[in-house]
Order: sequence, then structure tokens, then C-alpha cells
Amino acid sequence: MIARPWNFSAGPSVLPEAVLTQAAQEMLDWHGSGMSVMEMSHRGSAFTQICDEAEADLRELLGIGDDYAVLFMQGGATAENAIVPLNLISRSGQPRADYVITGSWSSKSFKEAKKYGDVCIAASSESVWQDIGRQWNAFTWVPPVSDWQVRSDASYLHFCSNETIGGVEFTQWPSPVELDSPNVPLVVDASSHFLSRPIDFSHVGMLYAGAQKNAGPAGVTVVIVRRDLIGHALPICPSAFDYANVARERSRFNTPPTYAIYVAGLVFKWLLSLGGLESIEAKNKQKAEALYDFLDQSSFYQTPVHPAFRSRMNVPFFLPDPELDTTFLKGAMAAGLHQLKGHKTVGGMRASIYNAMTLQGVLALTDYLKSFEREHG
Ligand SMILES: *Cc1c(COP(=O)(O)O)cnc(C)c1O
Repeated sequence: MIARPWNFSAGPSVLPEAVLTQAAQEMLDWHGSGMSVMEMSHRGSAFTQICDEAEADLRELLGIGDDYAVLFMQGGATAENAIVPLNLISRSGQPRADYVITGSWSSKSFKEAKKYGDVCIAASSESVWQDIGRQWNAFTWVPPVSDWQVRSDASYLHFCSNETIGGVEFTQWPSPVELDSPNVPLVVDASSHFLSRPIDFSHVGMLYAGAQKNAGPAGVTVVIVRRDLIGHALPICPSAFDYANVARERSRFNTPPTYAIYVAGLVFKWLLSLGGLESIEAKNKQKAEALYDFLDQSSFYQTPVHPAFRSRMNVPFFLPDPELDTTFLKGAMAAGLHQLKGHKTVGGMRASIYNAMTLQGVLALTDYLKSFEREHG
């Protein structure tokens, strides 16, 4: 067994060891085919089985039926920021969509969408907020749904349900009853907490997630779109990105990222074997509580995010003095704790504790945090 470090990278990120082991065992010969999955035709029967099973397993995990298309696409969530408006912005007749801005990723989605139509901000946390007796900085909170202003003729309402950089998670997704415009479908960038908890799809029109955060290797983007929203692509939409084409060809309109789909499929099976999304959610809660509880009782470390919106997946925190950051990261590496440096736009530290990070890994981190505090506090 190779000693693997604890990998807290925000993405590409840690994968379940069982999945990597199986992929390694099947590398040269997938199920007696005499071939690696990488070498197979994307139209052959072996890959057809792999792709169909991945889709079926994902549907089972999420509990979604045939009213949604499940697509394996390319370009990551960044490309999807353009592919979404290209497909959906004219759905209501006018090229019009509304966006909720809660951090770097939703800001990027908004900027990209503006190229394709009349795009407005429905709500934003790009300002300070007074709540529970404290001031919260920009992008450390989520605007209350009652304050969102959604135009009734918007084609969709976009938000990022887990801001990977800021560590802000939408714990509750808005239901149409709370919004003035109940017929506007929700479009969600769920990249960094996809498959970390069950999702209530009843109000979701479309959801996308780059796999490399929590669902598999980089290269495949999972797109789930309600079938009644498909078929309104702008004439300029590249045909390989038109949901109608990709859905009709069951993700094989052109050559899909076959190996990434295969590994993501192994991750889906791993999640099913654990008991599905409720089970993994219970583990994720336990891990996040262990880390946040430690940070909360410490007067040395600070967490920037409003407690109601703390991400279970991405945990930013600060040392009392940025001068200590380099020493902290060096010591962490020596203790086998990798990739703890915060995003450059936020600074400080960030621990990403996705599905494949174990409680043992989180406890190794809190042990290190404790000893660092003892030494430098
Ligand atoms: C990582 C990330 C992206 C960008 O993903 P790419 O694969 O680099 O395009 C977009 N949104 C969120 C929430 C992310 O975490």
C-alpha cells in the first residue's frame, strides 16, 4: 500500500481509494475485453454499457426520472456558464435571465451570460450585512430568498449552490412559493457539493457540475436538465453544446470524455454501495462538524462565513497573522496535509473535505491545527 497524503485540494481533488484501485485493476483489461476503457470506441457495446450504467446509477442516486435528461458534457462549469444561456436564455421568448451573486463563481457565470442577452442581478451578497449581532463581509452570506427580485419573464434564475472559493453553501434552495416568479426554473451550478447530500429536484430546471470537485476526474461535466426546457437553443449555439443534440444521442453526439465518464461511474457505484446520498451526507456532516467545532472553540483561528451558510465541503479559515501562513503550510506538508492554501482572492487557508476525504483525514487536520496553535498561539 502506498502512503497517500491527506489531500484537501479544492479540485481536481481526492477520489475514493476503492475507485482508484478498481480503475487500476481494470486499466489493461476492462471486464475481459482485453482493452483499457481509454482505448474503446465510444459507440461500441462495452462503452455503451459503461455510459448507460453511469447514467442509470446517477439517476438512482439522485432519484430522478425520465422527465430529466442526464448529459455527460465537456468544457467544465466554465464552459457551461456559456452553454446554459446558449440553450436556455430564449426559452421564455425574450433572451432574459436573472442571477444571484454570492461569490466568485456566480459572478463569473453572470458575466458570461451577459454576452447572450438581458441579464440582471436578482440578489447579491457583494456588500456587508448585519446579522446575529455581527457584520458579515461581502460573499460570506446568502441574501434571504424573500429579497430576491426575479422577473416573471426571465427564462431562468441562476445561482451557485456552493461557492467553492468563499465556502458559502445554500443549505436551503428556494421553493417557488417563496419567489414572486414561481414559474421561472432554477438553474444551479452545484459543482463543488454535487453528490455530497440529497437534492430536492422538484424546483430545479437545470443543474450542472464539473466532476473534478466531488464526482470524478476532470474532463466531464454532469448536466441535468428538465426535458421541457430543451429545444430553445440560440441559432449561434455550437451543435456539440446543444442539449437537444446531446440528449438525443445519449451523451454521444460527438466523442465524450470516455475515461472520465467511466471513473465517475465508479464513483457513483461507490456511493450506492455506501447507501446513497443520505449516508454520505451523514458522513459529511460529521466531518464538517468536527472541523467547524474545533475552529469555533479556538480563539486563534477565524472563520469568515456566516454560520447559516457554512459549506460542508470547502472550509476557509484564517490564522491570526498572515505572516504565519508559510510556516503553517510548511508544517502541514510535513504532517502529510496537502493543498490547504486558500484561494488567492480570499487568502488564508481552505480545507476542502469532499466525499472521499475521511473523518480520519479531518481529525489529522484538527490535530495539526491544535499543535500549531499551541506552538504559535
Ligand atoms: C471549479 C468550479 C467552477 C469551474 O470549473 P472548471 O471545470 O474549471 O470550468 C465553476 N463553478 C464552481 C462552483 C466550481 O467549483
